[in-house]
This record gives sequence, C-alpha cells and structure tokens, in this order.
Amino acid sequence: MKRISILGSTGSIGTQTLDVISKHPEQFSVEALSGGRNVSLLAEQVRRFRPKLVAAGSRESAEELRSAVGSGVKIVYGEEGLLEAAAGTEAELVVTAIVGSMGLGPTLAAIEAGKQIGLANKETLVSAGHLVTELAARKGVRLLPIDSEHSAIFQCLNGESPASIHTVTLTASGGSFRDKTREELEQVTVEDALKHPNWSMGAKITIDSATMVNKGLEVIEAHWLFGLDYGQIDVLIHPESIVHSFVEFADGSVIAQMGLPDMRVPIQYALTYPERLPSPAPRLRLAEIGKLHFREMDYVRFPCLRMAYEAGRAGGTAPAVFNAANEAAVARFLNREIGFLDIERVIAEVLARHEHVQAPSLEAVLAADEWARKTAAEVR
Ligand code: NAD
Ligand code: MG
Repeated sequence: MKRISILGSTGSIGTQTLDVISKHPEQFSVEALSGGRNVSLLAEQVRRFRPKLVAAGSRESAEELRSAVGSGVKIVYGEEGLLEAAAGTEAELVVTAIVGSMGLGPTLAAIEAGKQIGLANKETLVSAGHLVTELAARKGVRLLPIDSEHSAIFQCLNGESPASIHTVTLTASGGSFRDKTREELEQVTVEDALKHPNWSMGAKITIDSATMVNKGLEVIEAHWLFGLDYGQIDVLIHPESIVHSFVEFADGSVIAQMGLPDMRVPIQYALTYPERLPSPAPRLRLAEIGKLHFREMDYVRFPCLRMAYEAGRAGGTAPAVFNAANEAAVARFLNREIGFLDIERVIAEVLARHEHVQAPSLEAVLAADEWARKTAAEVR
C-alpha cells in the first residue's frame, strides 16, 4: 500500500489523481489532501478517501470544512497547513498539483522530509530548479514527472544512458488559438482562451497553452528534470496530442511515447513507477486516428516561448522572473484588466527591468518572484 499526499486535490490534476487512486484501492491510500477555495469538493473527498490530514486554503475554509466533515480528521490551513500536508505525514509520495510558484515551499519541505515527488507543479522547477534538483539528489528523492511531455520522455529514457541522448522534442498542441493570426489575437476573449482543443485543465495552464508560455515552462522543466542543455531541447507543433514527446538518441533512433490525451496515464505512471497497472483511460487506436500532423514551431508567432528559452539560458533569477511575471499577467488577463497579447508584453517588460542574480539562494528566488509579480501588476 503506497501512502499518498495530494497538494491541490480539488484541481484538475488533483481530482484525476484521486480518480486513479479510486481505481486501485488495494495499491494506494490517501494520507493527506489539500485544497484552496472549493470546500464542498474538499469535504466530499475527505468523506470518500478518509485522509488523516486535510489542509484548507484559509481559516474560514477550515471552519467550514470542520462543520461539513465532523471530527476524525485533522484540519489545518494556510501556508503552514500546506507545509504540514507536504511534509508532516506518513506519506511516501507527494503529488504537487497546486498551481504556481507558491508550490515551491511545500515541494522543498516534502523533499527535505524524504518524500518521493509526483511533480505536476512545473512552476516550482522553473523558479528554483537548481535548488529543487540539488536537494532531491542529496535526499535521494525522485522527481517523478506528471506533465504528459515529461512523463513521455521519462518513459522513453527507461534503461537508456543520459549520455546517449541527442535531443528531446516536446510536442505542443498549439493551444486554443493555434490557427489565429496575431491580428486576430488582438480581439480574443477570456472565454475563447479557456477553450482548449485537446485537454481539459485548470484556467492558468489553459491560458499558458494559448500563449505558449506553458511550453516555455516545460522546456525549463525538461532542462532540470533530465539534465539537458537548452540546445538539446526542441519543440514541435503536433495538433492531435497523440505523440506526447520523443527522444532522439546518438544513433538516430527515435523513441516516442503515445496515447490519447488523458492525464490519468502520466499521473498513474508517477504513482506506480516502475510498475504499470491497468488504466481506465481510453485506448489508442492508430487506424482510427489515421493521420498525425507535425509542423515547426513559429517563434515569431509565439514570442513567449522564445523568451522562455532566453530566460532558461540566462539562468539565475531569470526563469523565476519569467514565471512570476506570467502568473501575474495571466491573473490580470483572467480578471479582464489586460488583453491577451498584453500577457507577452508584460512578461517582456518585466524581464527587461529585472536585475539578474546568478546562482540565487531560496531567499533571492522568492525576492525576485515577489518583485516580478509587483512589477507585472504595475506595467501599463
Ligand atoms: P487547477 O487550477 O485545476 O487546480 C489547482 C489546485 O491548487 C486546486 O486544488 C486549488 O484549490 C489549489 N490551490 C490554488 N491556490 C491555492 C492556495 N492558495 N492554497 C492552497 N491550494 C491552492 O490547476 P491544474 O490544472 O490542476 O494544475 C496544477 C498544476 O499542474 C499546475 O502547475 C499545472 O501547470 C500542472 N499541470 C496541469 C495539467 C493539467 O492537465 N491540468 C497538465 C500538466 C501540468
Ligand atoms: Mg504538458
């Protein structure tokens, strides 16, 4: 029985993680859950999965949760509560399914406590990849990727030596606006942006997919997870999201991982690694799909991806600033304060004003993150 803690259990990844767990009750138990504002869903999850600990977003949510579920479960809240759900239980594996760089503290705490990590929260690796990977190596903790592209690469690399990797290619569906021109993008709405063609995900990552920031975060995530130079990481547009990513080896062999787009597959693999179990996800029938399409990434059409590579190559605090500026800009877009194309403008402006710190400490990363958010909120 593997004991699991889920940070962000009420979100898209969190609920799908619980779905995977519910299909294999003899394999997994839920040690802790945590959620933000959706108290009624969190209460339902507590009743169904009976964790020992649950972390609510705020004190009010914690009180509401207490009256909904009664005694028998420890209820904590806020940032401290999240840290307790991450590090203060008997869980062996922590699924980081909260959104944004606020996942950094809990992820580091879980690694420090020796928990294996099922990593969905990519913003954490982007902000402080050097700190997270160094601590994980020191603690003998595995970072098991949940992001579909990284799970694909992780699976392609099974039994391979890292030295034999020539390049890895992350596939990108292109997001909600892949067929729109930049002129058309001037007018798009929040509702349009939230309609992803292939995946149903949380709001922030859906917007990130439309701006291609998501692929940029994933390039930096791949750099840290697999120890690759940026020159070894490519991106290719693949509208069907069937080939989840692939690796080209020194001898020219290419190994890809495929499947219908269903996050329960990479989630389950992180939970069962190195084993595989049956999955409820629908099966891939290539004859029914018939054709797959690929085309070169367009860095003029998607400048956020270019900026992500630049921030990744610059290193230091640049990726944290790129990420935090984006988080703040997306929040402003979702709030209807700025237009869709303003997201990239805000990120560019914040990166241009940023004072670079090389090899930053955790404090320096957090300071850069806070500065970038504040600056991004002020850019007109
Ligand atoms: P989501 O918005 O659906 O869920 C986020 C979760 O975090 C919710 O449970 C929410 O309650 C919780 N949360 C938010 N703010 C909180 C706070 N202040 N305190 C405590 N909890 C808080 O997001 P998602 O789409 O599930 O994405 C989660 C992470 O997984 C992101 O980093 C995303 O990039 C990554 N990811 C998601 C997908 C996907 O298919 N959804 C795929 C790959 C990677
Ligand atoms: Mg992905």
